[in-house]
Amino acid sequence: MKKSNCSAFAVGQFFQKINIMKLYLKCSGILLISLMILISCKEQQRSEKTKVWACFSGTLISTQPDTVATEQTEYFFALAKKTGIDAIILEVHGGYPNVDSTDITDFTDYEAINIVNKALPYAKKYGIELYAWLWTTNRCEKNLRTAHPDWYQVNAEGNSCLDIKLYNREHYRWLCPSRPEVTEYLKDRVAELAKIEGLAGVLLDFIRYPDAILPYGLHESRGVVQDKVYPLWDHCYCDVCRANFKAQTGIDPMTLDNPTENAEWMQYRWDAITELTNALAEEIHHYGKAATAAVFASPSESRKLVRQDWASFTELDIIFPMIYHKFYNAEDAWIETATREGVEEMAANNCKGYLCSILFVDHVPINRIDEMIDYATKGGSTGICFFSLEGIDKIPDYWGKLKESIARYKRKKVIH
Ligand SMILES: [Zn+2]
Repeated sequence: MKKSNCSAFAVGQFFQKINIMKLYLKCSGILLISLMILISCKEQQRSEKTKVWACFSGTLISTQPDTVATEQTEYFFALAKKTGIDAIILEVHGGYPNVDSTDITDFTDYEAINIVNKALPYAKKYGIELYAWLWTTNRCEKNLRTAHPDWYQVNAEGNSCLDIKLYNREHYRWLCPSRPEVTEYLKDRVAELAKIEGLAGVLLDFIRYPDAILPYGLHESRGVVQDKVYPLWDHCYCDVCRANFKAQTGIDPMTLDNPTENAEWMQYRWDAITELTNALAEEIHHYGKAATAAVFASPSESRKLVRQDWASFTELDIIFPMIYHKFYNAEDAWIETATREGVEEMAANNCKGYLCSILFVDHVPINRIDEMIDYATKGGSTGICFFSLEGIDKIPDYWGKLKESIARYKRKKVIH
């Protein structure tokens, strides 16, 4: 081999080595980045497993003069952070809206948006995720009632829920989920929240029919006898629902002797709510936000009491069953039973999201917080949620005890 050739060969080999090294470094880099992403995903999964949520009424912000609202918001967000709460679900549209416009499309000064915008700086300041919580089919804004009385649900006696005050509650006015105009109206309401920059997600509350049967522990205090479903409380028999069901089955549901025994009629109503929920989830996702809902305690009780088949809410990111067990006359251990039922049904239906149980602080004695969290965890709850910040604040020493319990919960780093 000539010297020049030899040198060329050596140079060639040198560059080949360089190229191999470059490739090696490139592969190592990719491997390292992949590993970092994997670790970060695992960490995120782990923190989701022990994420602590709390509900907070926005009326404290909306109904007070600005200076008081500012103090209240600062007070609650600071305490939440100190206690270990990671996310706040803020009620922005409840039973008594201030809006009384005659133009339902004019929501430029819509109170819900104002509440979110007032709370967001505090969420940012304390590093807390903020979710906007709104009532869904239960809508009582006066302008809507006046403009579209036909959108409201009708009971099996043929009476609109606008004409009877169900359970003597002024706010019990319910939109029919079968009407396309209702879906469009509600999509607009969730969209105006979902598009707010800095908000983490939207929570759909009251995404159901009015109570055909109230949770059992409330019958006495509300003065009702509900040993079965009575027509007064059984909805929706509006023209649209009756026509839809007749076209589907040839039966007018109004003529059924025992509507609850008719599987197809029950399924029709469950499906109407499910389709509405999934449509709203899609709208929320359009703005890149998490779509979530608060639902009754267990799938079986929800279907029976409020015609809500929430284990079929496949498109939601998080489903929060309100396991307020004493309202169901249930033992404490039922928190675990109800949670597990939800987790299993969601898995069977291939739900995309996960379940996080909500505990009602009035049902969680101050010396047994750990025990109640453990029931939910054993049942398969991902994270834990407390209703509510104001409720915690009312019970002496609860903040301190809750802080200890949350620290313990996070230390355990629950992995199912
Ligand atoms: Zn209807």
